[in-house]
Amino acid sequence: MSGARAVLVLNSGSSSLKYQLIDISTERVLANGLVERIGETAASLKHTVAGAAGADEDHRSEHPVADMGEAFSAMIAAFDAFGPSLRENAPVVVGHRVVHGGKRFFGPTVVTDLVKINIEDLADLAPLHNPANLAGIEAAQKVFADVPHVAVFDTAFHSTLPAAAYTYAIDAELAEKNRVRRYGFHGTSHKYVSEQTAEFLGRPLAELKTIVLHLGNGASACAVDGGRSVETSMGMTPLEGLVMGTRSGDLDPAVLIYLNRKLGLSFAELDAELNRKSGLLGLSGRGDMRDVVDAAAAGDEPARLALDVYAHRVKQYVGAYIAQLGGADAIVFTAGVGENSAPVRALALAGLEALGIRLDPARNTASRERGARRISSDDSAVEVLVVPTNEELEIARQSLSVL
Ligand code: ADP
Repeated sequence: MSGARAVLVLNSGSSSLKYQLIDISTERVLANGLVERIGETAASLKHTVAGAAGADEDHRSEHPVADMGEAFSAMIAAFDAFGPSLRENAPVVVGHRVVHGGKRFFGPTVVTDLVKINIEDLADLAPLHNPANLAGIEAAQKVFADVPHVAVFDTAFHSTLPAAAYTYAIDAELAEKNRVRRYGFHGTSHKYVSEQTAEFLGRPLAELKTIVLHLGNGASACAVDGGRSVETSMGMTPLEGLVMGTRSGDLDPAVLIYLNRKLGLSFAELDAELNRKSGLLGLSGRGDMRDVVDAAAAGDEPARLALDVYAHRVKQYVGAYIAQLGGADAIVFTAGVGENSAPVRALALAGLEALGIRLDPARNTASRERGARRISSDDSAVEVLVVPTNEELEIARQSLSVL
């Protein structure tokens, strides 16, 4: 059997490696997998081979994986043991998710030594992500030495932000010298979802004003005007903006100064506090929205408040982005919470009828349907949609586009 031409998409984090092998001609996922807890005593591996008619085969195991190089060996071993064959479905390109591209990268970029130096140089802006992404690129280049590697940056789609949106009102020279400005993240998802929205509505992307709400573990909103990102809620780092699973989102910066002065909390402690112990987790003791929704429904007060704060913030951004765009044609929910949580969607858009935003409760709660769907009522002036994101497919498409 002759195999498919494929793209291998990689997302390497500080302790995990996610991969997907995608057939170029059909855009079908041939296999995907996850190596988690790299560097701990037992890492867990999951390798899923796509079967006919959606009958996927999962293979799981646990054993120590010391570093990114060993994670790649484990991935290759899984392909060898369970298929599909990487010889028959040899990747023609390897696409890498890279979190921070700063001002330098505004599109998919073939990885060269100079590109790697630049990714490393941006590590002070994304200390948790860029070094891990770079380690993934280097490990992958050893294993797949004969194919091009392409970096696809989370920030790239937001390179079209106007200066008024990306500039913080602080000392201009201090900001310029230290690259302090808003960059935005989740760009691959915002781009993919805004394009899918135009396709679903059967309207030209160039004419559409869309607000994309990417609500996953991390969460961000994006105002897209004619296919260009013009405003987004994450800033210099992914901490700004919406309330997230464990991140606070927007906060008066003086809170940090106050806690430092009053309790002597170090900046490392404050960093951990805001990135890992805040958001839904900080408010309710639960970082997963499913648990928060269930607990709130059962009468748990902190969970109720967490849900209210979360929805209040989403609504605030929707209002702000309608103002920035001068009106919106569509509001689109995506990612884990956005695609799956009818209560969160209803709460976030409640009371916006005066702005022409009207959900249809039955459409909102109906359906385990896959694919894009409308959840607004027929008399809603603004279309409200659920559009599943697919960052891996977008990375695969962009990686192929530069070959
Ligand atoms: P990531 O940002 O890690 O890619 P996802 O987009 O997969 O995350 O979103 C994961 C989150 O989605 C989970 O933490 C969970 O809170 C939320 N989620 C998934 N399914 C549901 C659901 N049915 N109801 C509410 N939240 C959900």
